[in-house]
Amino acid sequence: MVVFACTGCGTVITTRVARVALPDHSGQKYGHDLLPSLLEPGTYVVDPGDDRPREPRKPEPEEHGIRLQTYCTTGPPNRIGIAPGDVRGTVFIPERLGGYCCGWDGQYGPNLACAGCTRPVATRVDDCGFWQVVWLEPDSVRPVAMDGPVQQVMDWVELPSTSPIDSRGFWSPVWEAAVAVALAHLLVISGGRRVSVPERPVAEAFRRAIDSLLPPGPPERHLTLAGPGLSATITDIALAPRHPQTGEVWPCDAGTVVPLAADVWTYMAYNDDRRLMPAAYGMPAVVRRDDPPPLLPHTLFRPDGRVFLSTLERLAAVRQPWLRRIYDSLRDRPYIDPFS
Ligand SMILES: [Zn+2]
Ligand SMILES: [Zn+2]
Repeated sequence: MVVFACTGCGTVITTRVARVALPDHSGQKYGHDLLPSLLEPGTYVVDPGDDRPREPRKPEPEEHGIRLQTYCTTGPPNRIGIAPGDVRGTVFIPERLGGYCCGWDGQYGPNLACAGCTRPVATRVDDCGFWQVVWLEPDSVRPVAMDGPVQQVMDWVELPSTSPIDSRGFWSPVWEAAVAVALAHLLVISGGRRVSVPERPVAEAFRRAIDSLLPPGPPERHLTLAGPGLSATITDIALAPRHPQTGEVWPCDAGTVVPLAADVWTYMAYNDDRRLMPAAYGMPAVVRRDDPPPLLPHTLFRPDGRVFLSTLERLAAVRQPWLRRIYDSLRDRPYIDPFS
C-alpha cells in the first residue's frame, strides 16, 4: 500500500491506496446524470493515456473565435486516479473550476492544490456524465510505501460479476464500455473476416456490431468464452477475463485472446437469463404480488462508440486500410447504430 505525497513539500494528499487495473470506462462520458465513483475507496489506477501510440484527433472546433467545450478525457500520461473520498490535504483552485452543471469537469487543468505549498497537484472530475475521480498529476506527487496489510489479490474463481442492466432498466454503461474495448481488439484480430460468437449474452453484446462492421458471408473465425471453470475447447479466438486488480489476462493456450473486463466476462460465462415459468396455472387471486419483474431496456444492446474509437486509436492496427475505413466511418458519428 502507498500514500501519495506532494513532491513540492511532502504533504500527504491521499489515504492508503492499493493499485488496481484501469477500468475500461475510465474515459467514458455517459448521459447527463451524476455517475458514481470510477474507483473503489482504497484503490488507485495509472492511466498511461497519451503514452500509447494514438491517432491524432481532429483539431478542436472553434466558433466565432471561442473554443467550444470539449471533454478532455486523457490528461497527462501516467496520471494517477483515486476515489474523491481518498483525497486529503488539498484546496480548490477557484479559477480552474470548469464545468459547473452539477460539478467540475477538469477542462482547465488541475483544480486542486496542495494545502501545504499551493502547488497544483490534482484534477477533480465530478460533473454530470463523468465517472467521479481525482486525477493526480504524475509529476507533482510521489508514492510513499506504507506499512499495513498486503493487498489481497482475488483468485480467478472469485471474480466479481456485473449485470448488463442497471437499476433504471437501462443497459449498463460499464458493459457498453467493456464490450466496446473488447470489440476493438476482436476486430483487429479478425483481420476483417467474419467471426462467429457463442449464443445468448455474448451474441447479444457483440453480434449486431460484428454483423454491421465485418463483411457478410460464412464465419471464418470463431470466438469462444474461455476462463476459470470453463472447459470448452478453444478452436480459434478466446474471449477471456482480464483480472480487475492485476490487469492480467486469463492464461490460456488459445492462439489469440480477446481480453474482456472480468465482471462482464463472469456474467457472460455464468449468468442464466432463462426466465422461470410458473408450473401451476396462474397465481391464486388472493396472493398479493410484491415482486414486479425487473425493468428491461427498450433497445438492443449498443457498445459505446466513443470508447470503441479511442481503443482503436491506441492500436497500431488501425493504420490498416480496412480498419481505417471503419474508424473513419464512425469518427464523426460514433453514436450511430450499432453503437451508442
Ligand atoms: Zn448536470
Ligand atoms: Zn505541497
